[in-house]
Formats: sequence, C-alpha cells, structure tokens
Amino acid sequence: MAVKIIVDKDKCIGCGKCYDVCAKAPLIWKVDENGKYYAYDTKYCHNCKLCAGRCPKDAIKIIVL
Ligand code: SF4
Ligand code: SF4
Repeated sequence: MAVKIIVDKDKCIGCGKCYDVCAKAPLIWKVDENGKYYAYDTKYCHNCKLCAGRCPKDAIKIIVL
C-alpha cells in the first residue's frame, strides 16, 4: 500500500506524538531544522492512522495513493 503523509507545518508544534505512536517511527518520521515533524519514508507505513488521530493540531493528512 502506498500512502502519502502530509504534515501542515504551520499547524505542527513539534510535540512528537506522531512519532511516539508510530510502530515504525524511526523508519518513517524525521524532524526538520525547525523542530517540525515530517514523514521521510512512507513505504514502511501501514496506514493505521494512529499518528493523525494522536496529533493535537490535526496537522496530519494521510492519502492512499
Ligand atoms: S499511519 Fe500508522 S504506520 Fe503510518 S506513519 Fe502514521 S502511525 Fe506510522
Ligand atoms: S503530533 Fe502533530 S503537532 Fe505533534 S509533532 Fe506530530 S505533526 Fe506535529
């Protein structure tokens, strides 16, 4: 399954909850120079949507390609 994860950097507060909840976090998530999280490699994502559900700012959108 191919997915695209879009993080709205204007909304992201860098809390890391997306990372904490993701079972594959070290393979998928990274932090940019401004402390904002982004999905670096989504091929390991199994579309569980836990990250989007946990984000307190509703900053994560997951699109199935
Ligand atoms: S949908 Fe699930 S596997 Fe994919 S990045 Fe979010 S928490 Fe991780
Ligand atoms: S859970 Fe949401 S606000 Fe927190 S770091 Fe992840 S994308 Fe940013």
